[in-house]
Amino acid sequence: MNTENNTNINCCFCGNLKTNNIIHGPKGYICYKCIYMCNKILNINKTTINLNWKKITPQYIKNFLDSYIIGQKKTKKILSVSIYNHYKIINSLKKNNYYKSNILLIGPTGSGKTLFAQTIAKTLNIPMVITDATTLTEAGYVGEDVENIIQKLLYKCNFDIQKTQQGIIYIDEIDKIAKKTNNVSITRDVSGEGVQQALLKIIEGTIANIPPKGGRKHPDQEYIQVNTQNILFICGGTFYGIEKIIEKRINKLPKIGFNKNLSFNKIYNNNNIEPEDLINFGLIPEFVGRLQILSQLKTLNKNELLQILIKPKNSIINKYKYLFQLENIKLSFTKNALKKIVSKCIKKNIGARGLINILEDNLLELMYKIPSMKNIKKIIINTNFIKNKSNPVILK
Ligand code: ADP
Repeated sequence: MNTENNTNINCCFCGNLKTNNIIHGPKGYICYKCIYMCNKILNINKTTINLNWKKITPQYIKNFLDSYIIGQKKTKKILSVSIYNHYKIINSLKKNNYYKSNILLIGPTGSGKTLFAQTIAKTLNIPMVITDATTLTEAGYVGEDVENIIQKLLYKCNFDIQKTQQGIIYIDEIDKIAKKTNNVSITRDVSGEGVQQALLKIIEGTIANIPPKGGRKHPDQEYIQVNTQNILFICGGTFYGIEKIIEKRINKLPKIGFNKNLSFNKIYNNNNIEPEDLINFGLIPEFVGRLQILSQLKTLNKNELLQILIKPKNSIINKYKYLFQLENIKLSFTKNALKKIVSKCIKKNIGARGLINILEDNLLELMYKIPSMKNIKKIIINTNFIKNKSNPVILK
């Protein structure tokens, strides 16, 4: 009914005052938003994720990862096998005694941790959400409740509970919730231990009560229950400072010389991080125990950065080429220009993120001016342009 002439009509569900699209029954009113929400909750289509097991093998997953991710060979293999095993088991009938192995990716900024999580989700067409551990707090504190992560996935799956229960959650910056006492770098005001405890519960499997409309929980509310037992958690972090812990550990071992003042990269890339290092860094042992698959991403080298620019299916250079193509302009880069981008990027020390920063910065002026210029056929980006933002070759 349209209630333009009626004042003070409140929806009995959400309590909001409504002026139109409200239905009334013998005892009260319901607004269209609540009808929509109830419909979604009641019509949960129980879609289990059906994977094509004739096609999917660890090798298939690895090949898919290869077309988007450069380098990080070992992580590709570890993840291909563990993801395959995870979904094979939860799709099988004998899943009752299954203790899933969640994944911890440790690697410098811009080495591809988030990209791995995104690409895995893409490979198997599994719903995934990305969240940041620094925004999480224990229930009751100001910030995001840990259960909000599940809510995000539920939204992503359009309230399909079955699908949500088989999704992937990527939690970035997991190192930032390390306990302060053990942590080398103090990065968090509130002790991270409470957040780790809260996360532990949902990571190892619990029935999470999710308020359908979001926000904080309150006692009179209806909840949607999501079982987190089979949700795959991938956590990522840089763990800067862990090199000191590794160094201490190796120096305690006999027959190894004292590696005084070795750089982060050297220690980090040449040694395996052990679970005990993570505990010494400030993760609680139970939490480390729940992240059974640990993979260390390496610092990307010159050659890998060069390949990242051009090789992946959706490579950074291809993205810009496509943008210019929409203006009917052919964009190309000289080999030396690409090398210059890489050498500038290495100085920034933020991994492949540096490539994107440099290109954004360098191409900004061109992207600003070109759409209002006429008859341009081709633009060639040369070294000079990358060095000084001057003189790209423009062919009309
Ligand atoms: P991290 O999570 O390790 O900080 P990201 O995965 O967010 O880094 O990387 C940022 C961007 O850099 C990605 O979106 C991608 O474009 C590029 N990138 C990083 N690592 C790789 C890689 N190994 N192969 C291809 N591209 C990469």
